[in-house]
Amino acid sequence: DIDHQVALVTGANRGIGLAVTRQLARQGIKVILGSRDPEQGESVAQTLRDDGLDVSSHQLSVTDAGGIKILAQLIETKFGRLDILVNNAGIFPDSNSILTTAIGPIRAAMETNVFGPILMAQACVPLMKRHGYGRIVNVSSGMGQLSDMGGNYTAYRLSKVTLNGVTRILAAECRDANIKVNSVCPGWVRTRMGSEAAPRSPEEGADTIAWLATLPDDAPSGQFWRDRTPIPW
Ligand code: NDP
Repeated sequence: DIDHQVALVTGANRGIGLAVTRQLARQGIKVILGSRDPEQGESVAQTLRDDGLDVSSHQLSVTDAGGIKILAQLIETKFGRLDILVNNAGIFPDSNSILTTAIGPIRAAMETNVFGPILMAQACVPLMKRHGYGRIVNVSSGMGQLSDMGGNYTAYRLSKVTLNGVTRILAAECRDANIKVNSVCPGWVRTRMGSEAAPRSPEEGADTIAWLATLPDDAPSGQFWRDRTPIPW
């Protein structure tokens, strides 16, 4: 039952990750707010606790394999379980045409947006398997949709295409373990990444993510979603 569930959200100190944290915590889930900057994470977590929500913060950089392992061990010791992992942390490095983009920004996008979620899964799935329950949500983007692929933004597009590949591989490997793994496009959202021009609020962007994080046992896995609806890869 949801009252005893524990969730970990990466990049949760601001933007969509913060809204996801709030939405999950409002359902009674204990949420661990992952933040690269521990002081910022703790001050944001305190504002959520002031609203009566069960949110703790922990320093977490998704490119730090050692730190990720330590956090997974701490979750095991402190909570004894992990039900939900939201791979939300992401970057959008400057890059345009594939003909002129340097490898540096592509590598940076891969490190955070792809290798991060892989390392998170490697640390968290064993915990989920032990209890026979898990929901993993990979926050992807329509910019990583092969069926609708445009030019430019090369580093970001490639990273999200690859993240969708991670979703499929992991979903296949977790098929018999009641661990659902899905990708989601939150739409264009008003955050530091999305800019003030974006039409959606962080709360709106978080809706399908929080919904996927709490899917029932008979729900699909290994799909790509937007607005609670499957979309093509
Ligand atoms: P923001 O730029 O507002 O927030 C990004 C978050 O990721 C921040 O908390 C940031 O931490 C964190 N982060 C970046 N690198 C790391 C790292 N190495 N380790 C841990 N945390 C890290 O972006 P959004 O909230 O808009 O984006 C959230 C997700 O949604 C991303 O995956 C993005 O690609 C995706 N998305 C966003 C869209 C939009 O329109 N906004 C559209 C489609 C997808 P810090 O504060 O320390 O920098």
